[in-house]
Amino acid sequence: MTVLIVEDDDRLMDALRAFLRKAGYDTVSAADGAQALEALSSDTEVVLLDLGLPDADGIELCRRIRERSGVPIIIATARSHVQERIRGLRAGADDFLVKPYNVLEMVARIEAVTRRARALVAEPTPEQVIDVSGVRIDLSGRQVLVAGTAVDLTRTEFDIIAALARYPGVVVPRERIIREVWQTDWHAFSRSLEVHVGSIRRKIGRGDLIETVRGVGYRFAGR
Ligand code: CA
Repeated sequence: MTVLIVEDDDRLMDALRAFLRKAGYDTVSAADGAQALEALSSDTEVVLLDLGLPDADGIELCRRIRERSGVPIIIATARSHVQERIRGLRAGADDFLVKPYNVLEMVARIEAVTRRARALVAEPTPEQVIDVSGVRIDLSGRQVLVAGTAVDLTRTEFDIIAALARYPGVVVPRERIIREVWQTDWHAFSRSLEVHVGSIRRKIGRGDLIETVRGVGYRFAGR
């Protein structure tokens, strides 16, 4: 597991690197935004991103990493920087740490975000018909039935519910849904996605079927 650490404080960087290596991780270090973008590769499995960097707006950097890769990103900010944290999550970060943070908490969060990412890569449900408490989603027939009655979804709405229902109980990041439904990485589709999800919920009449996971994406009810 390779962690890209983006941190301009040398002492903190040394401490993080030493700790992560002891915990069994490989690390790649970047002291600023330019180095971070250069170091980002297909081997990177998680990015630990300090938002306070000398040469770059951390939020913008987060967005640029997200444009290039679906890699899990954990941002670190000072306790007082709540707005920055929210902007970071909206820019595609998966989770955050508040400085000064406990290294054990950092490892727990790394494990959590990578577990989520792996679950998405590993195992979409092989079933073509998904039944969740009275709602039936027929993936190959492109039909949704609630209590036996067909629901009139648009093509896009069906694509969205299908993208989620293939991974019951797993948080699917917004970027991934957008990529699957609109075939683009453009994060400007986020608002459109929200509107479509609202419409799906109204048509199906079951608010609990698709859960919003703030700053990350959506989760389809598990069985
Ligand atoms: Ca800093």
